[in-house]
Order: sequence, then C-alpha cells, then structure tokens
Amino acid sequence: MKRYILSLAAFTLSLCIQAFTVVIDAGHGGKDAGAVGRSAKEKDINLAVALELGKLIEKNHPEIKVIYTRKTDVFVELNERANIANKAKADLFISVHTNSTAAKVGPQGTETYTLGMHRAADNLAVAKRENSVITLESNYEERYEGFDPSSSESYIIFELMQDKFMEQSVELARNIQQEFKQTGKRIDKGVHQAGFLVLRATSMPSILVELGYVNNPTEEQYLKSQAGRQTLARCIYNGFAKYKKSYKK
Ligand SMILES: [Zn+2]
Repeated sequence: MKRYILSLAAFTLSLCIQAFTVVIDAGHGGKDAGAVGRSAKEKDINLAVALELGKLIEKNHPEIKVIYTRKTDVFVELNERANIANKAKADLFISVHTNSTAAKVGPQGTETYTLGMHRAADNLAVAKRENSVITLESNYEERYEGFDPSSSESYIIFELMQDKFMEQSVELARNIQQEFKQTGKRIDKGVHQAGFLVLRATSMPSILVELGYVNNPTEEQYLKSQAGRQTLARCIYNGFAKYKKSYKK
C-alpha cells in the first residue's frame, strides 16, 4: 500500500511538472456586452468560440490543462482575468474577442494581437475599445494606477515595455492567422501589436484574437452561426496545436 501511494505521488508529481496549462479568456460578459452588431453581441460570440476551443484542446490533448476565465455569461474584471492565468502559472493565455468599428458597416476579417507598441492609429483604436471595459469596474483609476483607456498618453508605457514572451506570442499569432486564412477562408487582416491591458498583466506568452467584425452584416451572420463559430474555434485550435508541437518548455 505504501509503495502504491508513493508511486501514485510520483506519478502525480510528474504530471504536475509536465502539464501544460492554457487559459482561455472569453472577452467581456454579463453587464459588459462588448461590441454589438444588429443582433449579435460580442460577449456571446466570444464565449461560444472559447468553449468550443477548450473542448477541442481537451479532446485532442487530455494531458493539457484548460482553464477558462469564464464559462457563463458573467462579468469578470480585466485584472482578474490575468490573475487567473498568473495564479495557475499558465503556459499560454488566449483572449477571444470580436471586432467593431465606428463606421455603420465595418470591414471583414480576422486579426490577432500580441502586446506591444502601438505604431498604427487603428491598432490604438482597437486597444482603446477593448481596454475601455475597465471603466465598468469600481475604483478603476486606483486599480489600474491612473490608466485612462481613452487617453493616447496612457499608452506610452507600452512603448517602454520589453515583452520577453514576444517571440512565442508572435509565433502563435502567425499560426492562427494562417489557419483563419487557409482553413477558415477568412480575410486575413494580419498580426499586430497593441497595448492591451489584459495582455500586459499576464506573465506568459499571450495573444488576443479578434474573430471578425460584428458591425459587418455578412460577417455578423457568420459569427452568429454554429458552423462559423466551430470553424473559428478549429482554426485557433490548429494554430495552437502547431505552436504546442514546436514548444520546448
Ligand atoms: Zn472585446
């Protein structure tokens, strides 16, 4: 019996050491709908794709631990999303979002972001929109150390940051964009860098996916459909699987 317990302990320990943990973050939720189309809400699209992605990873890689920042329609603070990943000592953080523009009819296409400098004005717009969710949290001025999501000046800090996980994050982002284009037949709007608060707070390779534009009626229909959501999840999964294969801990 003693030997059995010991070997069980050794086995559990080896699992703990080897296990790869991925955190899947469905953006927005609860009182925060995110971007809204004619009928679709970003929070619902993000959650459906996030759950589908998790299912694919769990099914094909039972050795990988999947953690979700939310599995239902609830509001989760931005810092808490990163905390979940940091506490779990996750190896990867994938944040799932849906895009929109100020125009009445937006463009089509997918983008994948890593944390970084915001050279282009349009990248700044996406980061500003996604970061603005913190204003729904109480005391956000204190909690995010005076960060004003709507002020361009606030983003200067991102230019001073060195992201040690940049290379891995970009590799994963590229894999996913390639899949969106080839497998998903989506319009490839590329890999970009921008100042996302949720990525800044994570201490592991991390990316943020924008699945498409909810303010484009054609793309909105795709994003609302079961088939569309499954395809998008499959593309992220394929990109992840390729990354994981080349991953050396
Ligand atoms: Zn979003």
